[in-house]
Amino acid sequence: MSETKITLPESAIPAGWYNIAADMPNRPQPVLHPGTGEPVGPDDLAPLFPLDLILQEVSEEAEVAIPDAVRDVYRLWRPTPLYRAHRLERELGTRSRIFYKYEGVSPAGSHKPNTAVAQAYYVNEAGRTRISTETGAGQWGSALALAAQLFGLECKVYMVKVSYEQKPYRRSMMETWGASVVASPSQDTNSGRAILESSPDSPGSLGIAISEAVEDAAQREDTAYSLGSVLNHVLLHQTVIGQEALAQLEVAGAFPDLVAGCVGGGSNFAGLAFPFLREKIAGRELEVLACEPAACPTLTRGPFAYDFGDTGQLTPLVPMHTLGHDFVPPGIHAGGLRYHGVAPLISQLVLDGLVRAEAYGQKDVFASAVRFARAEGIIPAPEAAHAVHGVVEAAARADAEGRERTILFNLSGHGHFDLGAYDAYLRGDLEDFALPEDEIERALKAIEPLPKPAGVSS
Ligand SMILES: *Cc1c(COP(=O)(O)O)cnc(C)c1O
Repeated sequence: MSETKITLPESAIPAGWYNIAADMPNRPQPVLHPGTGEPVGPDDLAPLFPLDLILQEVSEEAEVAIPDAVRDVYRLWRPTPLYRAHRLERELGTRSRIFYKYEGVSPAGSHKPNTAVAQAYYVNEAGRTRISTETGAGQWGSALALAAQLFGLECKVYMVKVSYEQKPYRRSMMETWGASVVASPSQDTNSGRAILESSPDSPGSLGIAISEAVEDAAQREDTAYSLGSVLNHVLLHQTVIGQEALAQLEVAGAFPDLVAGCVGGGSNFAGLAFPFLREKIAGRELEVLACEPAACPTLTRGPFAYDFGDTGQLTPLVPMHTLGHDFVPPGIHAGGLRYHGVAPLISQLVLDGLVRAEAYGQKDVFASAVRFARAEGIIPAPEAAHAVHGVVEAAARADAEGRERTILFNLSGHGHFDLGAYDAYLRGDLEDFALPEDEIERALKAIEPLPKPAGVSS
């Protein structure tokens, strides 16, 4: 039996982040100012982000050097292990080889500190002392609270109300790392107060929480806004995952023909997949699969369109697959996948046929997650469980077709703060949400008046 766990020394932490914009057949279309319809420039973003991150957002260089201070923090948990899932393969009875990269070993339990640390570093370098953000399931807030603490910044987190109530320990974690946390919609911002006035029982959504965090940062000079997914620079920072995985697979003498990850805003998926997509763009045979929830089917049912990143329409217009900025997804347990849009870089790659997407119901997802946990030991985060399920299905299809595949997926985090969801599944209380077409049509009405991206028929 070949190795189970492939680890690398600290010296193998990549020296640079990989920027896929340099290699894409079609560059993503520009982000637009909602008032003028003109492409957004660095000056428009300066109130929210430090200049270095704005430059990364528009960079066309293939490699961006990782500052030493950031690599130093990465040493706390990187390189993360790559596993060969021998026990899962046996449980499935598959002839395929399955590998997974495990990002749950970070202090916050997910891939998110990879960018949180980089962002906190640049905010501090730019002389700002405070950082504001939103969080869904709480993983991003935890990651940023940790990173802010390590670089001596104050941190304010707007946490989607349904998660705030379901995941009190995520809040404890953020507070332990020194952040202040409020349930969103909150009384602390104009956008929060407006939502509370019209729907006092709003469960909140990432779109609403983003409006609050952006408003907070826009109104204070000492504060930068920080986003945990979607933006180009966030995806960029996550590419340490895929670069390490390439090196680890080389040790194992393997190269995948299927790379999979779950997609909320798209950062962990991009982090694993982009360095492999570089090979695919260069001509290597490879399927790249994005796994999303059927309750929030952004890539499989949302059109490619210009839309706001938030419900309050404060952000620029972003070219992306979207369900509409006022779409509020059902309260599925994979809180990190409840976002109406997805990263423009990934949207463009889907449009160009380089990435394919599938959507799954949460009951099937949890069935695969429990199977995985019983075979491999690790309890997947509900988000990551979507990738597990995608891989279980792909392996079964390969076996039915008599194919032996080499599969790689990202296990983006552990589920230790999501045991309530496992509880519901094990008791048989978990629900699947059928998303009616008219709810999708309703939410898409809101984006009809917005500009249309080039090459897309209305
Ligand atoms: C936040 C989160 C996700 C979803 O966000 P992406 O930007 O799409 O990666 C997935 N998995 C885990 C464990 C998360 O914390």
